[in-house]
Amino acid sequence: MPTDTHADLLARQPVFDAHVDSLQRQLDLGHDLGRRTRGHLDLVRGKQGGLGSVVLVNWVDPKHIAAGPGGARRRTRALLAQFHELAAAHPDQIAWAGNGALLDAAHASGRIAGIPGIEGGHSIEGTLEDLDWYFEHGVRVLTLVWNNHLDWIRSCQPGAGPGIPEGLSEFGKSVVRRMNELGMVIDLSHSGEKSIADALATTTKPVIASHSGCKAIHGHQRNLTDDQLRAIAANGGVVGIVFCTAFLKDEAQKEDARLRESAEYKAIAGPNDTDVFLRQGEWLQEHATPLPMEVVVDHIVHAARVAGIDHVGLGSDFDGIGRTPEGLEDAGCYGRIAERLLERGFATADVVKVLGGNMERVFRAVTGPGTAAHRARLAPLARVGSA
Ligand SMILES: [Zn+2]
Repeated sequence: MPTDTHADLLARQPVFDAHVDSLQRQLDLGHDLGRRTRGHLDLVRGKQGGLGSVVLVNWVDPKHIAAGPGGARRRTRALLAQFHELAAAHPDQIAWAGNGALLDAAHASGRIAGIPGIEGGHSIEGTLEDLDWYFEHGVRVLTLVWNNHLDWIRSCQPGAGPGIPEGLSEFGKSVVRRMNELGMVIDLSHSGEKSIADALATTTKPVIASHSGCKAIHGHQRNLTDDQLRAIAANGGVVGIVFCTAFLKDEAQKEDARLRESAEYKAIAGPNDTDVFLRQGEWLQEHATPLPMEVVVDHIVHAARVAGIDHVGLGSDFDGIGRTPEGLEDAGCYGRIAERLLERGFATADVVKVLGGNMERVFRAVTGPGTAAHRARLAPLARVGSA
């Protein structure tokens, strides 16, 4: 019986990658993501790999937060400006997609739908006005918290000191409600256990956990328990399975930690943190025992079994992770996931959901259909750069 190949599937359903960190390379290293670059993802390799939609996040290194009030805001705006510069420089390859209609238009014209995101609520500097500003300047996804705890939300990391709520504070709940009103996707990856429960109890819209794995397979703090997977499913949300080797398998986490203690790794130097991070990742990729990409498929299969096939997607964390599983080295490789899922007996309609259908569903539901008035409210791009 003839069946779809994974190439047919990618033509029908472009991949939606819910979490990618590549903008830092463009800002700090001058890489042009519209061309083939070092690192994990650029638009050239993404297109080859069937990428149709990508959340390009603005992640703020803690050193910018430590610089004092306004530090996180400045760095976030500088990264966001990089997104808009990319879209302006390569209008034939990527288009800003602030809602479902714009995402469809990007796909129809053969372009990648680019969705700016922010990883970590510190970027809003404790104000809803900053949240609104980011929305007006194109941001459509906010990961509520990164690994640093905030006075309005606890992350999944240990060591929360005094002044950190167990879950979401009242202000934290107001952030969730404001995101619902604006049409911004709530991302619960990195959130603590009670923060996830509080966010789910507060939101009226579906959420995502953009880049996480399953705790039942590897008990890493960044992964989700089966109960959390079911709670996200009950909300109508989606978990994006991550490619981070340390989250995927215990042995890989231990080996990565061991290698990071080596003299050779510690000697890696470069002109700035982003350059060092890139070199460290390349070194780990070369020196660590390859982790077969079947492990990523195992997490997808588990999440689909527990949460249901309508609640699983992809969130690689490309350019935010040191090394990748073997076979998923860069953005040209997404098709292999489709191939493996077909081999494991997934129906073509179900593979389509995992590749991008489910993430698209949440994105459309949260951002709404989009209207001309809504688009006109977007501030001129120049303001992003000059802010
Ligand atoms: Zn992350």
